[in-house]
Amino acid sequence: MLAFHYDHLTLALPPGHRFPQSKYQMLRERVQRTPGVMRPQVADAAGPEALALVHTPDYIDAVLHGTLSAAAQREIGFPWAPGLPRRSLCSVGATIAAARAALEEGVAASLAGGTHHAYADKGSGFCVFNDVAVAARLMQAEWHRRHPDRAGLRVLVVDLDVHQGNGTASIFQDDDSVFTFSIHGEKNFPFRKEASDLDVGLPDACGDAVYLPALEAALAEVWRRMADRPPQLAFYLAGADPHEGDRLGRLKLSADGLLRRDRIVLDALFERRVPMALSMAGGYGEDLSVTVDVQMRTLDAAARAWERWRDH
Ligand SMILES: [Zn+2]
Repeated sequence: MLAFHYDHLTLALPPGHRFPQSKYQMLRERVQRTPGVMRPQVADAAGPEALALVHTPDYIDAVLHGTLSAAAQREIGFPWAPGLPRRSLCSVGATIAAARAALEEGVAASLAGGTHHAYADKGSGFCVFNDVAVAARLMQAEWHRRHPDRAGLRVLVVDLDVHQGNGTASIFQDDDSVFTFSIHGEKNFPFRKEASDLDVGLPDACGDAVYLPALEAALAEVWRRMADRPPQLAFYLAGADPHEGDRLGRLKLSADGLLRRDRIVLDALFERRVPMALSMAGGYGEDLSVTVDVQMRTLDAAARAWERWRDH
């Protein structure tokens, strides 16, 4: 399974900043140390023409040229620095590469990504560009070029990061070709939520026993609503932040519960032969090695799904 990364590009953050940047390198090193089918690969930067499928010209320009206002930088949560544009472009590039590989091989991953709070015209909550939205639109454009006589590529976004995918929901609110599905903490950031095609908001401190049945019921609803035109590509934002050890998550899923979550999603997609691009999304453990453990189990489960595609 291809796993795209770009953790050699780091952000210049003030001391004590709460964005846990070191987890990306920790995860990539774990993947490289783990024998098996995962194939880590450095991601290329996305091109500006891909970003323009989602983001407004003014916003792209402000990020690339360092003219974001102080308020815009505060909303993103990162101060602009010369390394920010390239890192943001590679974040999108990793998810684009994972989506292309998923369409070829069934399953692929970005070892970061899932920047679902980014809107068309602004960033928010540690998200500069919306990697999944750009990759979805680019895969649709490439599909259309290859199959001009066929219906467009139908995309499903399964967003199980603990925070609602508000940017993604906003970007696709009038777009029937992309179904957005989010399970999140109802009381957690973002406090003003957008309407996804299907939203499930869960109460603080909810654990495995509530979460997993809610996920199964919601997925059944997704399949029911997509029955006429099933998805041909899925993006899975497998945030580690619903974990009980997370500083920002406020839900109480166990590590085993999160693995069961991943298997429910992966099995449902494989049964229907829906190719899947995985993004790691959020994870803010009190102990970052616990976050990386959760992410590693997600990647292992995805690698098993990749093997099932290879062998089927
Ligand atoms: Zn999150």
